[in-house]
Amino acid sequence: MRLPPEEDLNEWLAVNTVDFYNAINMIYGVLSEWCTSDTCPVMSAGEKYEYHWADGQRIKRPIQCSAPEYVDYLMDWIESLLEDERVFPQKVGDPFPSNFKDTIVTIFRRLFRVYAHIYHSHFQQMVSVKMDAHLNTNFKHFIFFVKHFELVGSDDLVPLQELIDTFERK
Ligand code: ZN
Repeated sequence: MRLPPEEDLNEWLAVNTVDFYNAINMIYGVLSEWCTSDTCPVMSAGEKYEYHWADGQRIKRPIQCSAPEYVDYLMDWIESLLEDERVFPQKVGDPFPSNFKDTIVTIFRRLFRVYAHIYHSHFQQMVSVKMDAHLNTNFKHFIFFVKHFELVGSDDLVPLQELIDTFERK
């Protein structure tokens, strides 16, 4: 598959960042009464993986926090980037910053952690509200997207590797 010219590629990454951000917000929002600081005192993906929050600016040293705190930090951080014209140009034709791809990579690596937490800790609840099919479709799209544009390294995908393998077998 041929990649579009760089500016078009950046536009495409930007549009999809907004789409995945909205989709994950919506999916995670369903879990608000189940994913609390009591049920999920750390942001984890199963027993082996735990994520600490740092944005490199306001919070420089990674802090341990509950899953809902982590997701709040993450969504606020992404929202502030999306609203910053120096990061996401608002007008067609305005240049993208030279480190745009790095920003996108960081956003997608962190968004993956929300899927990882949902699959490891809340999948049965997604089934109970009949959101599992939507979650699976959205996550499958996410994986194809991040693999195609090389946004999330294979090491970072390990917490959901078995599930990802089932996509590739089909
Ligand atoms: Zn949770």
